[in-house]
Amino acid sequence: MVDVFRHDVVIVGGGGAGLRAAIAISEAQPGLSIALVSKVYPMRSHTVSAEGGAAAVAREDDSLEMHAYDTVKGSDFLGDQDVIQYFVEQAPKELTRLEHWGCPWSRNEDGTVSTRAFGGMTTKRTWFATDKVGFHMLHTLFQTSMKFGDIDRYDEHFVTKLLVDDGDCRGVAALDMRTGEMKAVLGRAVILATGGGGKVWPFTTNGNIKTGDGMALAYREGVALKDMEFVQYHPTGLPGTGILITEATRGEGGYLLNSEGERFLTTRDYGVGTKAELGPRDMISRAITQEIAAGRGVKVPGKIGQYSHLDLRHLGEEKIDSRLPFVRELSRTYANVDPVHEPIPIRPVLHYMMGGVDTDIDGATELGGLYAAGETACVSLNGANRLGSNSLTECLVFGARAGEHAVQYIQGAAAGDEARFVAQVEAEASRVEELRGRRRGGEKVSKVRESLNDAMEAGTGVYREQASMAKAVAAVAAVKASYEEVSLDDTSKVFNTELIAVLELANMLDVAETVATAAVNRKESRGAHACSDFPTRNDSEYLHHSLVHHTPEGPRFDKKDVTLGVWEPEERKY
Ligand SMILES: Cc1cc2nc3c(=O)[nH]c(=O)nc-3n(C[C@H](O)[C@H](O)[C@H](O)COP(=O)(O)OP(=O)(O)OC[C@H]3O[C@@H](n4cnc5c(N)ncnc54)[C@H](O)[C@@H]3O)c2cc1C
Repeated sequence: MVDVFRHDVVIVGGGGAGLRAAIAISEAQPGLSIALVSKVYPMRSHTVSAEGGAAAVAREDDSLEMHAYDTVKGSDFLGDQDVIQYFVEQAPKELTRLEHWGCPWSRNEDGTVSTRAFGGMTTKRTWFATDKVGFHMLHTLFQTSMKFGDIDRYDEHFVTKLLVDDGDCRGVAALDMRTGEMKAVLGRAVILATGGGGKVWPFTTNGNIKTGDGMALAYREGVALKDMEFVQYHPTGLPGTGILITEATRGEGGYLLNSEGERFLTTRDYGVGTKAELGPRDMISRAITQEIAAGRGVKVPGKIGQYSHLDLRHLGEEKIDSRLPFVRELSRTYANVDPVHEPIPIRPVLHYMMGGVDTDIDGATELGGLYAAGETACVSLNGANRLGSNSLTECLVFGARAGEHAVQYIQGAAAGDEARFVAQVEAEASRVEELRGRRRGGEKVSKVRESLNDAMEAGTGVYREQASMAKAVAAVAAVKASYEEVSLDDTSKVFNTELIAVLELANMLDVAETVATAAVNRKESRGAHACSDFPTRNDSEYLHHSLVHHTPEGPRFDKKDVTLGVWEPEERKY
């Protein structure tokens, strides 16, 4: 028999979106019982590593309309304009609320909140707390969540399955990593806030826990994933490790240089116009890739490959230490350069997934009782390319909205037949047990993961070709087959990290399959999807979201209309 835990709402994920949802539920209806399930202690969620900042209109020279237009244009007209409108309206309220809860935003001399420039944004609207923004935001949310006695945390519990009966989602099966026991955590609504899946690629800024679990959980229960072909390469990762050097470096005035010391974004036409280093991420990543392809990359011996330079020297030591202290620390520790005296080596690195679980503006999915928010969701704020610093704010705005709507939903929702959910968890316990003792073809999980990483890097990089994308689809299918041959060395029940890695790999494989197939299907270039065979945007055929459903025969594709509004699609030029 598995242990059963009953709540009103179950949230999976203790990052920015999950914690914000939990607080919203507690505030909307005090006394509701909330389960917060997380595979890591909440403060270790990836939100903690965000450096640069969170966007919201704050200055007199700015307006909600400008923030909305920048986001629409940044999305290459694939963002839903009603969602974007709601987002920009709520953003200043959310960041101010965070301040009232204790978030130490950096200040101007006169005491007002300081904002910095970010790529694709017309004016300075990115709020920051030096360059450790995610840490301060997550800490604020985590501490605030502790005020509410009705949030029960299930830390270090790994969710392996959504519990669905008769078209309604009513809880999760969770593996207690400390004991190896499976638990039934039941509620009348479930909110997925499980973050992205950057670990599907080998060279990424993402932490090891970002394996796309929530996307795979929803997908397997028949919920569509949306716009999966759009993944963001951040222009400035440290070669070798992929550690992020925040866009705030360019917001504070940093330059990008090629091997000839030329500031190529100002001397060559890469479509970013006078924005130069403050162009959007998709365009700057392409510019760096082209510079390297044209032989103007900085060459180093060994395996690391070529890169460009990010030059901060002209900012001076005082500014670097007050605004970008973490960047200095990271550069010294991981690249052995001091940005006060030397340029930092950088190159594009996989950073973020625009796609995710298809939701409406309330965070609701097509499955009754199932919501999603944050990076795991695709509410269609970011379209084909996210603007830096919109994501942290997205976690707050849509985490809160999903929480509030889940509260409304459960008012009329029956708990369902508990015995049937418990039976599902028991079946899940047997499946996981079988996996734990598995001795099959002798494949190592690390090797299978590497093959997956290689396939995705080759097929879904900054530039994509039909042939290489099709090859990636076939390669992912082959890796999926080899997954069945995985064997585990560790058979223990207590903190069996090898078992967790095997469960995560299955999720990554599902996510990878949807990304690669969605990429082949979109025969145009839009935002982060730069397809060499179809170099231009094709609104007459592809101005739509792509939806992918799981079927036993493989992914099935559908279209969904983009919600346009005041801005008609136009050529995206800066
Ligand atoms: C290095 C870095 C810097 C960034 N900087 C910025 C920035 O400056 N500004 C900005 O706007 N955006 C930034 N981003 C993006 C932004 O930080 C993320 O998109 C956002 O924080 C995601 O938050 P989240 O709550 O959706 O998920 P996460 O913070 O990733 O949290 C996911 C949660 O889900 C839980 N979880 C996952 N799977 C399971 C499972 N199977 N069972 C149980 N629990 C599970 C995890 O334990 C975790 O608690 C950055 C991203 C990175 C990687």
